[in-house]
Amino acid sequence: MNNANTKEAASHGALIRKVLRSSRIVTPNGIVDGAIEVKGEIITGIIDSTDAQFASLDRESMIDYGDFCLLPGVIDGHVHVNQPGRTEWEGGKTATAAAAAGGITTLVDMPLNSSPVTIDVASLQEKQSSYDHAPYVDMGFHGGAIGTLLGTNPLSQSEIAIQVEALVDAGVLGVKVFLCDSGLDEFPAITERELRAVMPPLAARGVPLWVHAELVPLDWVSPKSIHQYRQWSSTRSKMIELDAIEWMIKLCRETGCAVHIVHLANAEALSRIHHAKIEGLPITIETCPHYLYFCDEHIPDDDPRYKCCPPIRELSNRELLWQGLELGEIDTLGSDHSPCPPEMKFLDTKDFAAAWGGISSLQLMLPVIWHSAMLRDFGISRLAECMASAPAKVLGLSGSKGRIAPGMDADIVAFDPDATWIVKGEQLYHRHKVTPYEGVELRGKVFETWLRGKSVFRDGSLTEKPFGNFLRRSGKLDDV
Ligand SMILES: [Zn+2]
Repeated sequence: MNNANTKEAASHGALIRKVLRSSRIVTPNGIVDGAIEVKGEIITGIIDSTDAQFASLDRESMIDYGDFCLLPGVIDGHVHVNQPGRTEWEGGKTATAAAAAGGITTLVDMPLNSSPVTIDVASLQEKQSSYDHAPYVDMGFHGGAIGTLLGTNPLSQSEIAIQVEALVDAGVLGVKVFLCDSGLDEFPAITERELRAVMPPLAARGVPLWVHAELVPLDWVSPKSIHQYRQWSSTRSKMIELDAIEWMIKLCRETGCAVHIVHLANAEALSRIHHAKIEGLPITIETCPHYLYFCDEHIPDDDPRYKCCPPIRELSNRELLWQGLELGEIDTLGSDHSPCPPEMKFLDTKDFAAAWGGISSLQLMLPVIWHSAMLRDFGISRLAECMASAPAKVLGLSGSKGRIAPGMDADIVAFDPDATWIVKGEQLYHRHKVTPYEGVELRGKVFETWLRGKSVFRDGSLTEKPFGNFLRRSGKLDDV
């Protein structure tokens, strides 16, 4: 890393020109030894070091990252920001600061656990207007579709469809549903009748349905008190995830609506997913860093920080998820950052039944995945697809985000592939510092994050006043 040449590049016309140099630029066409040219907010060229043009670049104004990797900014389509209404759990300022520090340049907020939940245009507008400051990174919003609220009359099929269409027209990037209890009374599980109202208008608009795929039996009773991880995880069997995915494959086939299964934990589903993809169904899959890093065998029996739904499974399952990622059966990575106040994790009484289910990992996603991928000789280009270009497609953002290529937003991460460091929760930008990654040693660290041509995080510090934009879905689902 050459820190000497960090001054601003010369301006050309009204646009500031910058040249970012590295021996490892991760582009859709492979890893390039060369330079990225940026004008204003946009990447205008990738110049290979063997090109004649490279020799004529102004070395004085070049920002030279040496052997650091230049990766496309990570796109995290699955974050629970919890603003408005539950900012004591997280909030836009801390979440987007953590994203910038973690190499995430686009973050998409889930419709829960904000209050109100984002299930119609009014609640979407309330959420957006609750931001009295710009986010540190670009961000978008998912809408939600829910079952009938307790004590209310069911909406008709056409009323449900109109509500979903209005959300899409208002710019949500996807529509999220739960097939089981979400943990919030105001976001009840959706039924087949309601899914059949939601999916056709989404199919018509080319917008995927984001699905929490666990089909918990109707007679399932939530345990009152559990003090062992494995006793708790056994209450949510692998079968309930398989059943849910099979159901969604069927509805995907019947309605033509694209389905994005979020936080896949059970690798046994991969063969079904594989066949659905071969059949040509528009189904895509997300998994999360905690399913790729932790495994049941290594989780202490008395630590609710690891509680999430679906539960983290065994080591052999984890390795099959990695294989699925490599083969393209799994398409995207999302953090599913789902924090809560520390007291809601019941770390003192160690009650898994009472503890909030969710893992806090937003800032750590890229280094955790990088570290784990390098242990397995996993390809860097494939990693960039799963963390940037594939989520951009699912989110309808691929016209401007997700790739280091001319014409794209200059969202770039300078990543030190060899720095080793130990995770300390208190040093993270998350509002709350509780994370199961506490004390974990990782190899690979974000050095600098560029958002639309400006550095927003560098060498441990946020460097700019926040200027993130709110994003709208800009296109139909592309082929992933
Ligand atoms: Zn989630």
